[in-house]
Amino acid sequence: MVKNKKETGFGKIVTKNIIGIILFFVVIFLLANYVQNDKKADQHINLSELVNDINTEKITSIKNVNDKIEVTYKDKTVKFSKKENDASLTDTLSNLGVDKTKLALTSIEIKDDTSFSYILMNLLPFLFPIILFFLVIWFLTRGMKNVGGGQAFSFGSSRAKLMAPDGQKEKITFADVAGVKEAKHELEEVVDFLKNPKKFTSIGARIPRGILLMGAPGTGKTLLARAVAGEANVSFFSISGSEFVELFVGVGASRVRDMFKVARASQPAIIFIDEIDAVGRVRGVGMGGGNDEREQTLNQILVEMDGFEPSDSVIIMAATNRPDVLDPALLRPGRFDRRVNVELPDRKDRIEILKIHAKNKPFVKDIRLETVAERTPGFSGADLHSVMNEAAIMAARHDRKEITQDDLIVSIEKVMLGPIRQTHVMNKKEKNLTAYHEAGHAIVASILPYADPVHKVSVISRGRAMGYTLKLPNEDKRMQSKLEFLDDIAVSLGGYVVEKTIFGDLTTGSSNDLQVASALARDMVTKYGMSDAVGPVALEPAGGRTMFGNGVEAKNYSEKTNEFIDNEVSKIMNEAYGRVLEIITKHREALDGISKALVEKETLEQGEYEEIIRGFGIRVEKD
Ligand code: ADP
Ligand code: MG
Ligand code: ZN
Repeated sequence: MVKNKKETGFGKIVTKNIIGIILFFVVIFLLANYVQNDKKADQHINLSELVNDINTEKITSIKNVNDKIEVTYKDKTVKFSKKENDASLTDTLSNLGVDKTKLALTSIEIKDDTSFSYILMNLLPFLFPIILFFLVIWFLTRGMKNVGGGQAFSFGSSRAKLMAPDGQKEKITFADVAGVKEAKHELEEVVDFLKNPKKFTSIGARIPRGILLMGAPGTGKTLLARAVAGEANVSFFSISGSEFVELFVGVGASRVRDMFKVARASQPAIIFIDEIDAVGRVRGVGMGGGNDEREQTLNQILVEMDGFEPSDSVIIMAATNRPDVLDPALLRPGRFDRRVNVELPDRKDRIEILKIHAKNKPFVKDIRLETVAERTPGFSGADLHSVMNEAAIMAARHDRKEITQDDLIVSIEKVMLGPIRQTHVMNKKEKNLTAYHEAGHAIVASILPYADPVHKVSVISRGRAMGYTLKLPNEDKRMQSKLEFLDDIAVSLGGYVVEKTIFGDLTTGSSNDLQVASALARDMVTKYGMSDAVGPVALEPAGGRTMFGNGVEAKNYSEKTNEFIDNEVSKIMNEAYGRVLEIITKHREALDGISKALVEKETLEQGEYEEIIRGFGIRVEKD
């Protein structure tokens, strides 16, 4: 249900006040009750006791307000009593047989309280149930509205959230998004059009109807969309693809209809469908004939997008990290015909992103965000955001007021590899083996010309890994070559080969290495045409298939092709094995040296590591 802004505003004020008023009464009532009970509990005397005390001359004064009686004794204690409301005090006392002469000795003060609080206090016991009654009714209806908004009453109404132009809590603008220049440029144009459509239409330009943001997770697609909302000053409807798909068939489609209807009525407007692949997957392939509900929703989106008049100023944005599985119909002209790549940030962009997230955080004076950017190739904006956050947490945990360079560096590794495993204590044998395993990775990486240089070697357990060898490319890479792939596979095998040849035994520690290497080899064969035997053919189709509405990477090769691929993959792996074996046999001394240092120090930084291998005559520089 898309709520009108005014209505919510007004409704909020009323409901807020109702709660306030009710709370006020409840508190007063409870307080009054409490005070009364408190007094009565241990200081109450009944009237015959009072008469008795008057007769025995224990009392100095009596104060009577309405039905309440306050009695002060000669020993200064104060007690309370109560009489009937409409009988007078003296009558009451005489009826109980008070000695008149003794009564004359005590001072008596009689008052009528007609103040507001007194009346309120007397009325409350009657009002309270009524208030309670209304309170219950109010709670019930409120709950109904919340639950019913989507399901019970108004099933189909779109769930889109309307972000009013100035309604965002923290307004996000393009200034909050670093890098992604291409996408920003494209979206600035959109904002410009919505603000100033005449400028474009007067020279006959057709404004794009749909804009699809594509990019890896965490590259800032959702952030960009929010920035557009913040910049454009128009109605902005945002919904996630998965919200269309519900239990009931037909709900998704009717939600789409409602959302477009509302957007059309409030144009100029932007509709943003996040994670559109949840509804926009290729239709009608895979097992089970696809998901009816999903397909109907997708069809409805297509119908709505075609139904716009050229003069309508409604723009539809969508985001996905799986453009390859989208239905081609979505990408046709007139629909999402503008596709914008949201790229992973390069080094310069990373500095900018870090600067954005460094705002409002205290750092030591000589902080160098450039170093962080250098060490984080392949990180997304979201990764960098968590590096900053982890660093701040670390500083706070150590009761420091400022974040240091060290905090940042340690956080990079934490984000990349998971937290250090404190609980796992390696025994001597395990540690020695892990040291050799990691040294195996490291030395292969240092020898092979196309492998990335080693930045750190460690035998400290992190996440699932026993130890780790950190290697980072010198520059951001957009493409990888066959030779680089082959060297990468060899480096992954380094640990395995060392275990097998030097220890004559294998541990489970290599399983991840083997998976990574095999997957890489397989991609070389099936996707990149890098196997001579296969030649220039991509065996893997780019699109995904669906099974019951979910994406499945079905690989339906023939039996023969499958066998052929397997053969090619193992050929690549075996060749790599041979190269690694050669390296560790030739550089056995260096391997021993690195392992020994690792057992001793547990972690070798780049400088320490390079010093060791230089000592064995290995050149560090790569050309
Ligand atoms: P996506 O939708 O592409 O998966 P998000 O937009 O949700 O990624 O990004 C997650 C978070 O990462 C953002 O809230 C932001 O803090 C950070 N982030 C990502 N990209 C950038 C960027 N280019 N500039 C600044 N912050 C970014
Ligand atoms: Mg997102
Ligand atoms: Zn390994």
